[in-house]
Amino acid sequence: MSRIVYVNGEYVPEEEAKISVFDRGFLMADGVYEVTSVIDGKLVDYAGHVARLHRSLSELKMKPACSDDELLEIHRQMVERNALENGMIYLQVTRGAADRDFAWPKDATPGIVLFTQAKDLVNAPAAKTGLKVVTVEDQRWARRDIKTVQLLFPSFAKMEAKAQGKDDAWLVTDGMVNEGTSNNAWIVKGGTIVTRHLGNEILHGITRAAVIRFAKEAQMKVEERAFSIEEAKAADEAFCTAASAFVTPVVEIDGAAIGGGVPGPIATRLREIYIEESRKMAI
Ligand code: PLP
Repeated sequence: MSRIVYVNGEYVPEEEAKISVFDRGFLMADGVYEVTSVIDGKLVDYAGHVARLHRSLSELKMKPACSDDELLEIHRQMVERNALENGMIYLQVTRGAADRDFAWPKDATPGIVLFTQAKDLVNAPAAKTGLKVVTVEDQRWARRDIKTVQLLFPSFAKMEAKAQGKDDAWLVTDGMVNEGTSNNAWIVKGGTIVTRHLGNEILHGITRAAVIRFAKEAQMKVEERAFSIEEAKAADEAFCTAASAFVTPVVEIDGAAIGGGVPGPIATRLREIYIEESRKMAI
C-alpha cells in the first residue's frame, strides 16, 4: 500500500514524492535525521528526538526546516494520514539544493522529508531470540555524536555481519566497544549495567538516556564507561538500545555465547520497563 510522505511542505503519495538532484543531502550526505518510534499511534520520547535534532543542526551550522510546532504537527499528520499504529517516523533535514560545491551556500532553503514505516516493535522476534553480533573496526568519521545521513560505513559493517550469518556489528576502536551500527551497546556483569560514556565517538541515544534513567529508578547500578570486547564476551548479559529496537538482548559476540546464549533477565526486565514507561509518556 502506498504511503503518504511529507516532502518540502507537501503531503504526497510516495510515488509522487520528488527532491532536487542538487539537494546536498543527496550529493554530499549534507543532512541529519531522526527516527521516532510510534506505539499505539503515539510518539515515543518525541521531546528528546527534537532536542537532538536541534543539536545536530547547530553542530553542522544548519537552519531548522520549520518551527517546532510545525514539526510536531507534521509528525501527527504522518501518523494520521498513514493510520500508523506501531512503527517509526523517519525525519530528514538537509541543507537544501544548491549548485554542487564543497562550500555550502548561506541561503539555501533546508530540505525536509518525513515518511513512516509500520512495524510491530513491541513484539519483535529479536526480543525473544536475542541478536548475534560480530565486532568490526570502527571506520566512521570522528563526529558520531551528530546524527548525519552519511551511513555508508555502518551499512558496510551490517553487511559484514550478515555475510558471517550474524545480525549486527559492534563497532570497536583499539579493542573497546563504541556502539552498534544503529544502536547503543550495553553489557551486564555482576548486576552492574555498563554502557560507553558519551563523547564524539558515539551517538547520544535517546533510548540510552531513557534506559539509564529507568535502570537507576529501579535501583540498578549503571556505569557509563568504555568496555572491551573481552569484557563483553565474559559478561553475564548484553543488549542494545535504539528507538526502533527499544531494548534488544544480544546473545552472542564474535561466536562467544553470552549468558548461555539466551536473553538475560536484566535486559528482559529493562525492555518491559521501557515499553511500559514509553506507553505512559508517549504523546
Ligand atoms: N547509535 C547509532 C549509531 C544509531 O544510529 C542509533 C540510532 O539510530 C543509536 C545509537 C540509538 O539512538 P536512539 O536511541 O536515539 O535511537
